[in-house]
Amino acid sequence: MLKVYSSEDRFMVQQIKDLLESKGIHCFIKNEFAIGGAGDLSPFDCWPEVWVTDNDWKSKAQSLIKDIETQWQQGTEWCCDNCGETNGGGFELCWQCGAQAPVTLPSDK
Ligand SMILES: [Zn+2]
Repeated sequence: MLKVYSSEDRFMVQQIKDLLESKGIHCFIKNEFAIGGAGDLSPFDCWPEVWVTDNDWKSKAQSLIKDIETQWQQGTEWCCDNCGETNGGGFELCWQCGAQAPVTLPSDK
């Protein structure tokens, strides 16, 4: 098992996990519910983390994460066809209703 992503933003961690799973990469989130019950751990220690179950997926997972992070930085917003909600660039699913984005990510390389 291998950690491929970590962020203080739990929502981004969830998006990464959903992206990897949609590409057939088995992964899971660690520390998902750690924030708030952390005790004397530093906040950094309890950031949610995305782990892949097989180290062979490391390079593919990291390239997918790089792609989606680039999209987040570019911040191309899209409007949900289903509910009309505006979503940030890089999100494959509408955060409001969960509908698929009308654009596809530049992955599957
Ligand atoms: Zn929607």
